Order: sequence, then structure tokens, then C-alpha cells
Amino acid sequence: MTLGIGDIVATAGVLLGLNYVALFIAAYLFDRSARHLLWYLAGAGAFIGSSAAYVMTEIAPFHGLFFILDDVLVCTGFLLVSKGICTHARLPLPGRIFALTAIIGAFVIAVLAPLGELSLMRLATVSLFQVALPVMVVVRLYRLPAISSRTRFLATMLCAVILSVLIRPLVAAWAVSHGTLSPAEQAELYGTYAATPFAATLFAFAGTIFFLAMSDLAATYRQASMTDSLTGLLNRRGFLDEGNRLAARPAALIMLDIDHFKTINDTHGHDQGDRVIAGVGSVIAVAAPRPHLCGRLGGEEFAILVTRTELPVATALAQAIRVSIETELRDIMPDDRPVTASLGVAAIGDDGIAGALIAADHALYDSKEAGRNRVTVAGAEHVHGHASRTGGRRSA
Ligand code: GH3
Ligand code: MG
Ligand code: MG
Repeated sequence: MTLGIGDIVATAGVLLGLNYVALFIAAYLFDRSARHLLWYLAGAGAFIGSSAAYVMTEIAPFHGLFFILDDVLVCTGFLLVSKGICTHARLPLPGRIFALTAIIGAFVIAVLAPLGELSLMRLATVSLFQVALPVMVVVRLYRLPAISSRTRFLATMLCAVILSVLIRPLVAAWAVSHGTLSPAEQAELYGTYAATPFAATLFAFAGTIFFLAMSDLAATYRQASMTDSLTGLLNRRGFLDEGNRLAARPAALIMLDIDHFKTINDTHGHDQGDRVIAGVGSVIAVAAPRPHLCGRLGGEEFAILVTRTELPVATALAQAIRVSIETELRDIMPDDRPVTASLGVAAIGDDGIAGALIAADHALYDSKEAGRNRVTVAGAEHVHGHASRTGGRRSA
């Protein structure tokens, strides 16, 4: 029994692989909706098994059996990893293709095994079957109409693993070309130069998967910390965060506050109050979709950043929102009483969102003072109301 560098790399692969199993389990326990991690976990198990089988070919009896097992487990690992990627990227992977690749792969591996470890014919055919499904997955990922940089990175790392498998026949040809070496020494040479790139690329790939799982998790929490759970709009933090980045001029800010909301709560209960808040939220979301920003700043107070828009257009939008609230939310009130809101609009000036928030808030206050259910433009002489379009107060 002699352990070469290839065997040492494979042994290290088993130990490092177990570390990744622990990391994948931890990542899955953090986020149980990440089902793709279970496929990666199973894939890691298969690759660890293949490394163990590779070492066993040196130290255990039934050399031929472990030899076949090694190749079958590499094939299985690739199938499971491909399924993981498809689950993550929401690409369908027909069960027929999956099963067919597995069955034909296992058959080819078993039939060609007697040709010997360094047979070019065996290595070329087996390698092609092992990477057939990952190649299909990579091609489909690159052909996605809007591939994210993260998915592209994952696909590129998988390409590196695929290449490390496809170069094996060349490595074998090179090892065999050393005619002065004994067959055992040639096998040792092949083992060293075939196992090392395979292990290195596989661990880089596993690291990428773990990194993406962690950044998915961070993105989920970041999203939750910026979202208002009642309306699905941005919360104050999210609105100010994104608003400060998007507030390039021309842009305008609309502030909105539901009229006499306390009465709704007092008369119909807090749950009904929540339904009204959610209703106003969806009217706003429909009226001002992206690239505009809609947020619930707190209580029954909302803000809309109308991007790339001059003040008059933003004012017309505020007026449309006011009318929609009054007409569309009647149904959700048990007594058919209309829900109304008062709005203030301000242009984004030199002092950005912070300044516009103060100006729009003052304009909103003017709408309340003028009788509610109306729109006031900061710095303008007019108030747009449901009853009257004249007689407004000058806003701050
Ligand atoms: P105005 O027309 O002057 O705006 O009168 P208002 O009654 O709407 O005034 P105010 O701002 O004082 O009332 C806001 C109320 O909103 C007080 C608070 O109990 C209630 N509120 C705040 N957050 C929530 C919430 O998440 N759900 C419900 N149901 N009520 C809320
Ligand atoms: Mg109010
Ligand atoms: Mg209020």
C-alpha cells in the first residue's frame, strides 16, 4: 500500500468536505426556505464519498469496486449539485433527464471500468457523462434573459469544476507518455495532477455556494428591516435610505396623512384601522410604482418620492391618489363612510429629502387646516381640494 499525493489530496478533501457539510447545515438551519442547500448538502456527501472511495482503492480489498464507486459518486455529486442550482435559480430540471443521465452514467462507468484507470477511452467517456448535466445547467444559466452577477459567478465556478474533470484524459495521456515510469508511477503521477485541480475547484465552488447562501440570508434580513409589514411598502428607514440615493432632481415628495383616523379606530376598532392603512398603502403602491418610492413613515402617515418628475406632474399624481382613496376605499368601511386623506407636495431642493420632508409636512398641515381631503403644494398659492380648487393657504 502506498499513499501518493492524489490520496493525500483526497483525504484532505474528505476532511474539508465535512467542514462544508457543517457549514451548509448551519446555513440551512438559519433559513429553512433555502431548499437548494439540501441538494448541495447531498452533493457534498456524494463528493466526500467519492474521495473516500478513491483512497480506499489504495488501502482496501475490492479495489475494482471502490474504483467504480468513486466514479459513480462523482457522477451523483454533479447530479445533486445541478439539481441544487436549478432549485435556486428556479430552472425546471425534468426528472427524465436527471434519471437518464444517472442510469446511463452508472452503466458506462461499470462497463468501461475493466479498461483500467489510465485508459483514455474510459476517462474521456466517463468524464463526459459526469459533467453532461452540469454543462447543460451552465448553458441554461448563461442563456437566462436577466442573469444576475451572482448567478454568473456561480456558473463560472461550476465551469472551473467541469474543466478540472474534462482535463483528466489529457493528464492521463501525459502520465502515460512517461514511458520510463512503471504503471504504478504513472498512476501516481495521474492521481496527483488530476485530483489536485478537481479538489481545488470543487472547494472554490463550495465556498461560492456558502458565500451566496449567506448573502441571500443577509439580503432577506436587510429587506425585512426596510419593509413595513402591514402595507408591504418601505418603512421609514427603507424610505430614507433608498430616497437619499434616488433623489436626483427633478423629483418631488408627497406626504399623506389619513383624515380623522382616530375616529375610524375608535368607532370600528384597531383591526378596521389596520385594514384602512393597508388599503391606503395599496392605492399608493398602484398609483406610484417603481421607479417611484412609496413608504409608510409611521402610524397613518405615508410618503412618496416621485422620481424624475417636475412638481406640477407630482401634484397631479397626489391629486389622483387623493381621489382614488376617497372613491376606492369606500367598500372596506362597514358604514360606507369615505376614507379621505390630506396631502402635501414639495419639490426636492438643495437640501434633498430631509428638506423636502419638512416642506411637504408643512404643506400637509396646511391641507388639514384648510378642511382636509385636499392637496397643498409647498411654496404655492393654491390648494387642490375636493370641494374647492381656490382659496388655499400659502404653504411653508
Ligand atoms: P387628522 O385628520 O388630524 O390626521 O386626525 P387623526 O385622527 O388621523 O390624527 P392622529 O394623527 O392624531 O391619529 C393617528 C392615530 O393613528 C393615533 C394612533 O392610535 C393610530 N395609529 C397609529 N399607528 C396605527 C396602526 O398601525 N394601526 C392602527 N389601527 N392605528 C394606528
Ligand atoms: Mg391622521
Ligand atoms: Mg397622523
